Amino acid sequence: MSTMTSPADGAKPIDVAAATAKLLGATSGNMVTYLQSCVHCGQCAAACHFYQATKDPRHTPALKLRPMLKAHRAKSSPLAWIGLAPALTERDLRETEDLIFDTCTMCGRCTQVCPMGIDVASIVQISRQAYAAAGLGPSDLMAAADASRDKGSPLGLTPEKLEERIEWLADENEVDIPLDKAKADVLLTVSSIETMKYPSSIVAMAKLMNHAGVNWTFSSKGYESTNFGYLAGNTSVARVMIERIVAATAATGAKTVVIPECGHAFGVMRYAAANILGRPLPFEVRHITEYLADLKRQGRLRLKPMADAFTYHDPCQISRRGGATADARYLLDGFATDFREMSPTGNFNWCCGGGGGVQAMGRAADVRHKVFKIKMDQVEATGANTLISACSNCRLTMDESKAHYHWPHEIGSLVEILADHLDDTARPAAAAE
Ligand code: SF4
Ligand code: SF4
Repeated sequence: MSTMTSPADGAKPIDVAAATAKLLGATSGNMVTYLQSCVHCGQCAAACHFYQATKDPRHTPALKLRPMLKAHRAKSSPLAWIGLAPALTERDLRETEDLIFDTCTMCGRCTQVCPMGIDVASIVQISRQAYAAAGLGPSDLMAAADASRDKGSPLGLTPEKLEERIEWLADENEVDIPLDKAKADVLLTVSSIETMKYPSSIVAMAKLMNHAGVNWTFSSKGYESTNFGYLAGNTSVARVMIERIVAATAATGAKTVVIPECGHAFGVMRYAAANILGRPLPFEVRHITEYLADLKRQGRLRLKPMADAFTYHDPCQISRRGGATADARYLLDGFATDFREMSPTGNFNWCCGGGGGVQAMGRAADVRHKVFKIKMDQVEATGANTLISACSNCRLTMDESKAHYHWPHEIGSLVEILADHLDDTARPAAAAE
């Protein structure tokens, strides 16, 4: 029996049964516990930047549980046993599409305040798989996933373009940027946002690695760590992107993969990749913030003091959901003499509004700009002129809103300020193990 529904208004047909099957496939173990334990207290609303910025009750995080809960109840509740539990409908899916894509950055802030510890972000990620299977989801997000599979990167950074770009950056900045080294201890990956929009970050990472004497390389066989397959709910593309990095790492013999300034790239490789592949990764995954903190602990990162007043935006997937909150502070400690924490900060920092692929959704631009007002207020309260982040996706989101509001503050990158203050006069570091 066909499961596709064809609306009369000319909208493209969607596959409700495919979405239902995906949602039901995930309703086991902790997911069912999450779905059934919401006590409707509403505390998550005030924690979500989309609710905070709009005051629209639709943006209460708990509402994002409903499509999966309805599919589950239609199959497994006592009413279902007597045929009285309503099934998930096309209307349900269409009316909640924006809640699952445009207005959830999977930042995890709502979970911090939820008395039941409900992981809304994970439910949203699974729901995206269901909506994508039904044929829903922002076209630009889906196109970014397709480009990742077909060209190697969401922004069209092919292996050939990567090679050209690295050659140009190395010449222009007189820095050694190894590509496809036969043997290396560390495989460094890129985010295409950095490569295409903030190439100075690539140069900064190379300078830092070289300064510390790390035996590292980029690889043209697996370089893009931002995983738009994961963000778009397209697990087959997510798997392809991860496998490329696994193959590139095996080719070099590297034991460590370092993820650059991209939060979701880190979250996927560090915490989701092994589950997506169905096997453990044969290497450790470190965010560049963590890796540089390791180098500093080993005495291999020598920095000249920096006196500029600045504040730090904790990227959700690196701090709150990633665990590198303290490492960012450790890197700044003793080096940045006028570092000013914003409030709230660390694991409670507000999201930039562009995570979870929301940055790539053109139709979400207005709500992103509204969310950025929260960040502007936070930064202005510190009195600092400069806002630093360790995520190029946050940086791009904030740069676009900065332009939208003609906000006069500077926005920069953690690796770039570190690289700008390297003390190369000190004794060269020993080569990495
Ligand atoms: S994960 Fe973040 S964006 Fe999504 S509902 Fe929770 S607080 Fe809002
Ligand atoms: S805070 Fe948790 S329990 Fe309360 S409404 Fe939100 S999801 Fe439900």
